[in-house]
Amino acid sequence: MAFWFRIPLWQRVIAALALGIATGLIWGEGAVSIKWIGDLFIRAIKMLVVPLIFFSLVAGVASIGDIRKLGSVGGRAMLLFLVTGQLAAILGLTMGTLVQPGRGVDASLAGSADTPPPASASATETILKMVPENVVEAMATTDVLALIVFSLLLGIGILMAREEGAPVARIFDSGAIVMQKVTIVVMELTPFGVFALMAWVAGTFGFEGLVPLAKLVALNYIGCAIIILVFYPVMIRFIAKLPVIDFFRGMVDAIAVSYSTASSNATLPVTLRCTQRNLGISTSVSSFVVSLGATINMNGTAMYLCLATLFGAQIFGVDLSWGDYAMVAFTSTLGAVGAAGIPGAGLIMMALVFGSVGVPLETIALVAGVDRIMDMIRTTTNITGDAAVAVTVAAMTGELDRVEMISDDDV
Ligand code: ASP
Repeated sequence: MAFWFRIPLWQRVIAALALGIATGLIWGEGAVSIKWIGDLFIRAIKMLVVPLIFFSLVAGVASIGDIRKLGSVGGRAMLLFLVTGQLAAILGLTMGTLVQPGRGVDASLAGSADTPPPASASATETILKMVPENVVEAMATTDVLALIVFSLLLGIGILMAREEGAPVARIFDSGAIVMQKVTIVVMELTPFGVFALMAWVAGTFGFEGLVPLAKLVALNYIGCAIIILVFYPVMIRFIAKLPVIDFFRGMVDAIAVSYSTASSNATLPVTLRCTQRNLGISTSVSSFVVSLGATINMNGTAMYLCLATLFGAQIFGVDLSWGDYAMVAFTSTLGAVGAAGIPGAGLIMMALVFGSVGVPLETIALVAGVDRIMDMIRTTTNITGDAAVAVTVAAMTGELDRVEMISDDDV
């Protein structure tokens, strides 16, 4: 037992992935008999959606502190978070549309035969439904969009109540931490879930079934590479007017930790250290922007959610209108805001985006097997984005020690 837990989770997951594929290829269709283990894993993930979004989103908004104190730093950071998030979402949609990773895939691959895709709602209907008539009902029916609207309002209410709202803020803070621990426990099921799902896919569909997944993984890496190597450098070079190479040299530690842990939260201490010591960002700006960013700024996740939604839509033949595309970009950005900085959070948020445009949730089961490999790179994208925004805001507001950033000593 102790030996099992000594191996890092990501290594166990990768081993399970390889073992699952091998088992499926040898066992063939018989592997369907262990699919229930994968289904159990997916049920456990779905179980977390409502409480995780509720606590982490309310806590995230409340952590801004004082509405009035948001000022120049908060405003600029939020604007950059929003712009980069939207660009990432558009990138995901563009790549998913051009490459069509889910095209030509047999829908039974996702075990959906008995679940017809829900009809997508009209734009006005969707807007109306975003405001829940009954919060408890929204939670009970996993109406995530309505839940997000209520959570944001609750967070704003807490901020407006100031000292009197502080005890409620603490409850949500502590709730968010507790839910993250619960998620860590559920994530321990990942190796078993991944093993069973991959054995089932490989056993039922052979190599052919693995090709679309490989395409999705490859696209995800390409998208993250574009965000890290094009979007961020443009921001650092042209808005912050800083040397890009020095930025990346200063971030090496955080990049390595984020890739291996797949958790923005776990990487937070390292990101803070890199931004303060190696990039020369003042402590106040880096703590505010990087901590807030670890919770709400997830460009890799936004891009991934768009890509996965198109993947599911292509598999199940769900036609998406331009309005649906806008909806996917919007809900993916919201999903990225609502996702906690922990492994697998992006997978949980799929329920939100898929639900908004009628893509069947069965897609989650299919993607879950390879999620970890993609989680690693999207987490690196997420934390690099936090640092890029922090350094840009610091440069704009005179909170950057430029000598520190370009000196080699601490790197
Ligand atoms: N693991 C990611 C992070 O911590 C979130 C996600 O799953 O997309 O940044």
